[in-house]
Amino acid sequence: MKEQALLGDEAAALGAIHAGLSAAYGYPGTPSTEIMEYLIENAQGSALAPGAFLASWCVNEKTALEAALGVSFAGKRAMVTMKHVGLNVASDPFMNGALLGIKGGLVIAVADDPGMHSSQNEQDSRFYASFAMVPCLEPRNQQEAYTMTREAFDLSEKFQVPVLLRMTTRLSHARAQIKTEPERARNPLSKAGDKTQWMLLPAYARRNYISLIEKQRGLLEWSVVHPSNKLELEGRDLSLAVITSGLGGNYYEENLEDLVKSRGGKTPARLHIGAYPLPEASILRLCEKADRVIVIEEGQPVIEERLRGILTHSITVNGKLDGTVSRTGELDPDVVRLGLALPPRPGVLNSGTVSLPKLPGRPPQLCTGCPHGDSYETIKKVIQELDPAEGHPNTAINSDIGCYALGATPPYSVPESIVCMGASVGMARGAAEAGIKYAIGVIGDSTFLHSGIPPLIDAIIADTPMTLIILDNSIVAMTGCQQTMIGSDKFTPLILGLGIKSEHLVELEAKRQLLEENAVKLKKEIEYPGLSVVIFKRECLEAFRKRRKAETQGGSK
Ligand code: SF4
Repeated sequence: MKEQALLGDEAAALGAIHAGLSAAYGYPGTPSTEIMEYLIENAQGSALAPGAFLASWCVNEKTALEAALGVSFAGKRAMVTMKHVGLNVASDPFMNGALLGIKGGLVIAVADDPGMHSSQNEQDSRFYASFAMVPCLEPRNQQEAYTMTREAFDLSEKFQVPVLLRMTTRLSHARAQIKTEPERARNPLSKAGDKTQWMLLPAYARRNYISLIEKQRGLLEWSVVHPSNKLELEGRDLSLAVITSGLGGNYYEENLEDLVKSRGGKTPARLHIGAYPLPEASILRLCEKADRVIVIEEGQPVIEERLRGILTHSITVNGKLDGTVSRTGELDPDVVRLGLALPPRPGVLNSGTVSLPKLPGRPPQLCTGCPHGDSYETIKKVIQELDPAEGHPNTAINSDIGCYALGATPPYSVPESIVCMGASVGMARGAAEAGIKYAIGVIGDSTFLHSGIPPLIDAIIADTPMTLIILDNSIVAMTGCQQTMIGSDKFTPLILGLGIKSEHLVELEAKRQLLEENAVKLKKEIEYPGLSVVIFKRECLEAFRKRRKAETQGGSK
């Protein structure tokens, strides 16, 4: 066995490589991005060469998962990476993929972000696994991220279903030493024999759905004996039973010594859950004699809610639903400590937060000199001229997900809505059709490719009187400067091809010195009572720095 110090994301990526990965696809999204970055760094560029694998970014999570399904159909192992909200985008192939006869192992690595460090919501991907009726593995440390990823491929091939690997921010972005095992051979090309398992025509889909339900019994048996679903019952105090999952297990253990002391030396009975479907038999064994059970889980109350359908008798259940454990945000040892009714550690407030001297708030901001800042200054000036009344009642500026979302904070304060990838375009259309005179969507280049094109087609067909502003900085900046799928030079022919009139497709250079000139051109398009697209172009400063560094180092990364 070799040892390496890796981030949780990198450990999952290496686990996939060592499991015999042939291809990996994904869309960048914090905290999942480093899984694919590690794979791309180590890929040999082709799934066809012996011993090689391919790794690439895709336009969005849905296309990534669909490509991975194609790899699995051909009999090879594939991984897909995304953040939790990306699974919403990929949910169509994800839910339907559960009904297929998966051939080569298919693992979907999804990184959740409890606490919303860089996300628009706190959703828990374990709900999706349960919804699709596919197994989920939930590592609690970097070593498990490695070993569970390897195992996920075997499980996928054994039960012929996709397997979800649930990561979380703290695990994804923390580094630890892991032990690795020898790399396995990649699957040979051997496409799925039974085509009816891959065609979800109603007659086949009905049969495949029954087959998926029949697989649940085997999955339950697998999860009950899975080593990460560890039941500690013998000699334990049953006046309190504790169920933990994911990092909640680590935080519980950090408090265990104090908990045992506070209970006169008695150690509560415990079940840690790392593999789903929920090990129902173990839960019943734990709870049948216990007086009370407390559930400590990272994310939403997935286990706690399901307990009510599993338990055959009445028992007090404490956790996120009754507020014993904080319902929102990330868990940490202090939050868990409060849930266990232990006194706060010295220097820690009752809320579980550390008391620090008051520091000035520092909300995230666009980099000084960012091209988006100049674009927003122009938009702001034009709106002030067109719709000067307070609150701009005749204007709706819908922004999207990316660095440019930071234009919502001072000193710009321009966007009025930020919802999900691509929503700015559809919302601008809706606002226009609701009667808003100056309906505007603001979207970045990569987000436009991700999910901005279909709603633009809707608006073109409806000839909606709105203006779409594309902020083209030639890179996916927010997640660390991944390459945009197609270059800026192709945007104009692409948009013209969709049907925008050439006289209402305007390109501007996002520069402060051009503010007056750009404002005149932008104003004309916003006033135009039809559909117009304005592209503000200038390279992201971070991307520029990275590119210059690579050039001066002779093109090396
Ligand atoms: S990383 Fe690039 S796009 Fe993002 S704020 Fe900085 S300069 Fe602007």
